[in-house]
Amino acid sequence: MAFNLQDLVLPHIQAMKPYSSARDEFRGDGMVFLDANENNLGSVGTSEALNRYPDPIQLPLKEKLAHLNGISEKQIFLGNGSDEAIDLLIRLVCQSQRDSILVQPPTYGMYAVSASLNQTEVQEIPLKPDLSLDVKAIVAAIRAETKIIFLCSPNNPTGVTLAPEQIKDVLIAANCLVVVDEAYIDFSRSPSVINWLDEFPNLVVLRTFSKAWGLAGIRLGAAFASEEIIRYLTKIKPPYNVNILTQRAGLAALDSADEMKEYVNQVISERERLHQQLKKLPAVVEVYPSDANFLLVKFDREVKPIYDTLLAEGVVVRDRSKVLYCENALRFSIGTAEENDKVIDILTDKL
Ligand SMILES: *Cc1c(COP(=O)(O)O)cnc(C)c1O
Repeated sequence: MAFNLQDLVLPHIQAMKPYSSARDEFRGDGMVFLDANENNLGSVGTSEALNRYPDPIQLPLKEKLAHLNGISEKQIFLGNGSDEAIDLLIRLVCQSQRDSILVQPPTYGMYAVSASLNQTEVQEIPLKPDLSLDVKAIVAAIRAETKIIFLCSPNNPTGVTLAPEQIKDVLIAANCLVVVDEAYIDFSRSPSVINWLDEFPNLVVLRTFSKAWGLAGIRLGAAFASEEIIRYLTKIKPPYNVNILTQRAGLAALDSADEMKEYVNQVISERERLHQQLKKLPAVVEVYPSDANFLLVKFDREVKPIYDTLLAEGVVVRDRSKVLYCENALRFSIGTAEENDKVIDILTDKL
């Protein structure tokens, strides 16, 4: 069955009128703005002019991103982190208490959290034990109620980039949305699937400024998709979802894209160094190959005491031992060289 977005977008969203902000109609300098009940006298506690509502369509930022990614600015949605895009996508197509999303454990937790908030069922089709996609099982699990398939590539917490041919197989078989979360793609050897947007009208690609760009604190994420999908996301988003300071920082970052690549190279080289050192520890059973900015490490014992030891020394890592395939595993974000050395020292001395 062919993909048809109109069949997927919930009728009440198709029918609803979006909030129209006063500033949608008039922009530009030299105007006297008395339309939005702002404080025209100034901003408290800062010499910066923050008294105006931010640009609701964030066009300059989108134009730069479009240029960098070889797509149209009309194919870009910007959100308060990519988590906002996840939430809005679910609310766009999933009818509460009827529809479902499909995820592949172990994976990023926000898909299920946003689904729960929307009373949307989560169908779980685990990755294969080799941490690749089980395409056959995914395709077999697609029901009329399945409205979004989330694929995370590279995946969190496994660090594995999904095979492009497998992603393509899912895109071909599914007549629902297929969201490919590329939060870690800058660290991966594999190319992005963003070039497939023209070929697959059901594809949504998620990106974030929180990882490679080093801007988790500004909360800025993006969804790339067909113009049609982006129009709907824009229709239902909170009007001023990306604040002025964030837009400014995002623009500055895109002007320094080379700096991002430099960080990525450093993180990758530290990742490989940490990988080699962790592998040598007797208590380490396996360090999973990673295409991301973290390492999943399996130990020969319960990890709670190891976690506590690290914590006592002031190092916070992520205990993933309760999730599928990750028994006795901790996830280590790649730190500075000094921080990574500290991890190795602690684990060498205390295990
Ligand atoms: C960190 C992460 C994100 C980022 O979300 P933001 O809301 O943009 O910070 C998205 N997806 C995955 C898989 C992540 O690990």
